Amino acid sequence: MENTSLLIKYLNELNIEHDERMIGRFVEFHQLLTEWNSFMNLTAITEWDDVVLKHFADSLSIVKAGDKVTDLSFFDKDKRSGIKVLDVGTGAGFPGIPLKIAFPEFDITLLDSLKKRVGFLDEVINKLELKDINAVHGRAETYAHDPSYRQAFDFVVSRAVANLTVLSELCLPYVKVGGYFVSYKSEKADEEIVSAAKAIELLGGRFIDDIVFELPGSDMRRDLVVIYKEKETPKKYPRKEGTPAKSPLCSV
Ligand code: SAM
Repeated sequence: MENTSLLIKYLNELNIEHDERMIGRFVEFHQLLTEWNSFMNLTAITEWDDVVLKHFADSLSIVKAGDKVTDLSFFDKDKRSGIKVLDVGTGAGFPGIPLKIAFPEFDITLLDSLKKRVGFLDEVINKLELKDINAVHGRAETYAHDPSYRQAFDFVVSRAVANLTVLSELCLPYVKVGGYFVSYKSEKADEEIVSAAKAIELLGGRFIDDIVFELPGSDMRRDLVVIYKEKETPKKYPRKEGTPAKSPLCSV
């Protein structure tokens, strides 16, 4: 039996309102994660306490960006409805599924290039009876040229997918002008921000802030790199599949 008090403690620390239904969904998500992980590679973290901290609380820590960046007020209760969020390279659903469970008003798209993982996400969506969320199988480079995805999201998030230069090419094309891209990073964020500066500008973005903190009750550092979408992304970006990682933009 999972100790839900730990989860409730983190939700309180992050000022996230919760009820029994929300807690129940987190418990069921953990159960599905461990069940499917026995026959499919989803995560190395499976113990409840670890999942609660390193997957759930970490994913939800993005509310700290909302606290710090005034414009990023998507987390205010009266402003969440209909906000379109994209999670690029979501894997087993991080941060997208915890965001949907905690903020059901968001309209969330989960994107991943691994079909089996998208199958898992469909099962989670179905079993948890989540609405206004869909899991899409495909490469970020490809969907970004689809008119219904290009510059169609209020904010785009991504955790543990690529360095900031590569990630900016994969993510910024999806963000509406006036929207935000928030990347979950850690110790190397400072270096990555410097290396990615020219690419971010070329893609129509502007670096706003690097929000640094420790995850609740731990000494694990988390950086949230916040990028504002100032101008349209030139049509040629992202380049074809694999190119952003093979030859990163503006690399010297
Ligand atoms: N975001 C999750 C997390 O933090 O637990 C998963 C991280 S996992 C290390 C990286 C994921 O990104 C994988 O599931 C992989 O399939 C996906 N991915 C990598 N490159 C991608 C691309 N170009 N388009 C879509 N998904 C991609």
